Amino acid sequence: MSASLATVMDACRYAAERHVGQTRKGVAAEPYVNHVIDVAARVARSPDADPTLVTAALLHDVVEDTDGTAEEIIARFGPEVAALVGEVTDDKSLPKAERKRRQVEGAPAKSAGAKRLKLADKASNLTALADSPPAEWPAERMAAYVDWAEAVAAGCRGVDPALEAEFDRAAARARQSLEASP
Ligand code: ZN
Repeated sequence: MSASLATVMDACRYAAERHVGQTRKGVAAEPYVNHVIDVAARVARSPDADPTLVTAALLHDVVEDTDGTAEEIIARFGPEVAALVGEVTDDKSLPKAERKRRQVEGAPAKSAGAKRLKLADKASNLTALADSPPAEWPAERMAAYVDWAEAVAAGCRGVDPALEAEFDRAAARARQSLEASP
């Protein structure tokens, strides 16, 4: 099942429903759904944009961070979208440090679509870190986050030069804002 424009908007609505009440970590406390829309917009701007990937981008945090399930995504959006979401969903039964380690180790073996989702996701997070850093995060924690995001992105290179360049710009901005902060 190839995603259509109607599917993309259905995924947008579904993500908004699922992430209702959740906010981003930054001081601006933006609605969480702004993040998945940002990731989808980044993927959509790529010259190789395709609606299935944009749909998966909208849903990429639904299984990890909400009550939404893989079965529900298969039923509503098809197995192709669900497989992409599954590839970028952490196993929440594992400790956080192990999940972060697996993201770095597992990135090179992901499909091209999942690599593009990861690049857009990390670029979105680094942009948010620069624009609206979490109040309770010391500079070392932010620096460690940028290092980790770059390690994940390193394993996602070679599939989408536009998204790679966007990631690099976001990482450079995040580093600049770290240097500028006291
Ligand atoms: Zn995300």
